[in-house]
Amino acid sequence: MLEVKGVCAGYGRVQVLWDVDLTVSANEIVALVGPNGAGKTTLLRALSGMVPIRDGSVTFLGEDITGRSIERIVDLGISHVPEGRRLFPGLTVKDNLRLGGWRNRNTDIDRVIDLFPKLGDRLSQVTGSMSGGEQQMCAIARGLMGKPDLIMIDELSMGLAPVIVEEIIGRLADIAASGTAVLLVEQDVDAALTVAERAYVMETGRVVMSGNAGVLLADPRIQQSYLGIA
Ligand code: ATP
Repeated sequence: MLEVKGVCAGYGRVQVLWDVDLTVSANEIVALVGPNGAGKTTLLRALSGMVPIRDGSVTFLGEDITGRSIERIVDLGISHVPEGRRLFPGLTVKDNLRLGGWRNRNTDIDRVIDLFPKLGDRLSQVTGSMSGGEQQMCAIARGLMGKPDLIMIDELSMGLAPVIVEEIIGRLADIAASGTAVLLVEQDVDAALTVAERAYVMETGRVVMSGNAGVLLADPRIQQSYLGIA
């Protein structure tokens, strides 16, 4: 569904991504892990049209989207839940969700409430007054309001208690099963590789390992570098 080939991208004269290859199939959960500054966020930004791609190509559902506008990429079915969530903190949960469905005229919030029932009790609460976990649920739900074929979630667990992370990560399989593939950037490597089917490890702007997530989780290099297991 998503095919990234030889992508190079960066900011101004600074190149961050070097020759990145990555694929995501329909209904798949794919994790992207790596240390701070590896380029994971930059890759998501490049895929959603926020950072220009200097070389290489991105194909989504058979269409070349390299260099396409953010709006076109959203309309084609890629939703991006950015690092820090970027909700409208002064608006209610309901209004944030309705904004997520604005481009595709989707007003059916029941589907995302089924996924995150806690949001159902909070519809008239302003999002800025909710807990971090509730805000992350709202950000993902807002992304799903566009009925995307692919949702890219950046740093799902940032600032959240492990029990909340587990609760939210537990919904990803339902999201994938309902027809939205997931590309998950995550610092919690254990959680990411447990929920994902496949994974990519990035270091200094390059993919250095990739494959079956369970196999990567058992790899001594991953265990030493990312899980603190000697
Ligand atoms: P983190 O987990 O810390 O967010 P990351 O793997 O997502 O790390 P990026 O945020 O993509 O990494 O950063 C990759 C590199 O790009 C870093 O060296 C960073 O300093 C640089 N960078 C990120 N955003 C910008 C920007 N707006 N302008 C210039 N350089 C940037």
